[in-house]
Amino acid sequence: MSKRDYYEILGVAKGASEADIKKAYRKLAIKYHPDKNPDDSSAEARFKEAAEAYEVLGDQQKRAKYDRFGHAGLGGAAGGGAGMNMDDIFSQFGDIFGGAFGDAFGGGGRGPRRTKGSNLRIKVQLTLEEIADGVTKKVKVSRLVQAEGVEYDTCRSCGGTGQVRRVTNTILGQMQTASTCPSCGGLGKGVKSKPKDADEYGLRREESIVEIEIPAGVEDGMQLNLRGKGNAAPAGGIPGDMLVQIREADHELFTRNGRNLHLDHHVSFVDAALGAQVEVPLLGGKAKIRIEPGTQGGKILRLKGKGLPSVDSYGKGDLLVNLNVWTPQELTSEERATLESWRESPNFQPDPDPREKGFFDRVRDMFS
Ligand SMILES: [Zn+2]
Repeated sequence: MSKRDYYEILGVAKGASEADIKKAYRKLAIKYHPDKNPDDSSAEARFKEAAEAYEVLGDQQKRAKYDRFGHAGLGGAAGGGAGMNMDDIFSQFGDIFGGAFGDAFGGGGRGPRRTKGSNLRIKVQLTLEEIADGVTKKVKVSRLVQAEGVEYDTCRSCGGTGQVRRVTNTILGQMQTASTCPSCGGLGKGVKSKPKDADEYGLRREESIVEIEIPAGVEDGMQLNLRGKGNAAPAGGIPGDMLVQIREADHELFTRNGRNLHLDHHVSFVDAALGAQVEVPLLGGKAKIRIEPGTQGGKILRLKGKGLPSVDSYGKGDLLVNLNVWTPQELTSEERATLESWRESPNFQPDPDPREKGFFDRVRDMFS
């Protein structure tokens, strides 16, 4: 998408002074203002375009970057651009039209603001077992709720519109100012009577136990968004959301790598040499695995499907069992004598196969 040059949009020369840029923008802002051009989308586009151009050229640092590198120099957010909404634009006006005009045009004709309750953030710590199966967690939260017995009436300051308007005479002619009503915060309603424990909006804080359903396979740092489970908004407004951040507790046996689990497991020296059936722990269970005769320490066995599910796909990961050979720490004199007698036996001399992969290669293969 090619963007128009900011100087061209404002109709000023490259070397224009700050004052000239401001003046040019002021003219365009008035000409294309939505209140003056209702339902004219091309005027709105020009209005936004001019605001974006001024956002950059009206700021010395941004202007310098723009002069050197063009649009590319401003990156995604720096120039405002598509990210600039009407509220951003109107908030710019304080600067352009001076203090008396702080909120000039603010939110013109948009009716009462739909007030929304604030979001509630909580953290939930889960074990790997809980993550494996999914779990319903009961969590104690302290939320703002609508207090019983609150009576609301229409806000006297704004007549229920949530906005206050005033007409001001300025050097630019008569201008209508609209801003969020300071008495009701945009709600359009005021608290007429309320019980003692309610705040100025008729809300009160309440502790409750909430059940949160957590799907299987979540990961540390993920956030669940429970719409409408946050703080209440007054007078039947839209409640905020509950944002549940997932924390994963360390497990004493398993380490997690995405959907795969990793287990360090020791087998005896004798089992490694002779082969054996051994039992290994699973998340919530046990499994028998076969140790082949002559197994070297460092071998990794893969148990398909014994890992974790994923929140966004089917199937489960694997359990990777890293076999370590346990060397005896203490020996009876009899054991010592037996082992001693084998010390020089050719079978006991290390003779690794040079084609065998090293430990790190094997780990890499397992995780790839
Ligand atoms: Zn009001």
